[in-house]
Amino acid sequence: MRFNPKARLDRSRVKDVGGSRGGGLPGGSSRGLPIPGGMAGGGIGGVIVIVLIFVLSQVLGGGGGGGGLGGYTTSRISDAQDTGRYDGCETGADANENPDCARVAVENSLTDFWDGELGGKFEAEGALVTFTGSVNTGCGTAGSEVGPFYCPADTSIYLDDGFFEEVLARQLGGPRGGFVEAYVLAHEYGHHISNLLGFFGQVRTQQGPQSDAVRLELQADCYAGMWAKHATQTEDSQGEVLIAELTEEDLDLALEAAATVGDDRIQEKAQGTVNEESWTHGSAAMRKTWFATGYQQGSLDACDTFSVPRV
Ligand SMILES: [Zn+2]
Repeated sequence: MRFNPKARLDRSRVKDVGGSRGGGLPGGSSRGLPIPGGMAGGGIGGVIVIVLIFVLSQVLGGGGGGGGLGGYTTSRISDAQDTGRYDGCETGADANENPDCARVAVENSLTDFWDGELGGKFEAEGALVTFTGSVNTGCGTAGSEVGPFYCPADTSIYLDDGFFEEVLARQLGGPRGGFVEAYVLAHEYGHHISNLLGFFGQVRTQQGPQSDAVRLELQADCYAGMWAKHATQTEDSQGEVLIAELTEEDLDLALEAAATVGDDRIQEKAQGTVNEESWTHGSAAMRKTWFATGYQQGSLDACDTFSVPRV
């Protein structure tokens, strides 16, 4: 992945809140993370699984309907909490040099792409927030064991600093490289798109290979593929294309990363056996398939994982 060195970056939605702040939650401290039985303390087994349960518990417990837009604005990350980590990220040239700035650039490309795709239905995500240790969000306090996640209550994406190296690469044996993070960000952004389009309200069944929870996750993978397909044609508000080049290798990294976080792979690593009935995100094969579907077909309709009999 190479960025257009002349393109300007928009840092307005990308924040870093640094290390753990402690303290209570804006919305009350009772919103703990429900940890599924048998997964508590299981390290990598819990990482990805908890994310969805966490998100769903917010959606399903948060007044129902099509996601939690609005009403939680007080919990949004304020500028005062920002460490200034991204202050030096100004151009695509910075993104080519510095992984922090590449994160800003990928966020910008995702926002530009989905703005064009959704038109009047589009709203940018609240923020993309990086943290170390733990973070207070509109969905409660989250620690790094949660892995990257989207919080529908504040429409923000949260990303722990250690996830890519410590969890994805070392614990799960996944790939390393710039496009691995781009895939994960695109997946989380995909959850935001599902939220905007009202799909969160369709989630009833939460576990199993054909469950609504898995369909929501595969939809996010499909949306990630959709963005990847169009990324090198997506223009910013100045008419500049931000992502100048994506290679076959980048796409392979995305597919490999998608497979690494498949439920079957994680279960094999964590417990040595695979139990389909507890799946929340889909198998490695399913995740690759849906990323590829989004990439090849490149349309919202093709990513309607809720309307197909089997995903
Ligand atoms: Zn997800």
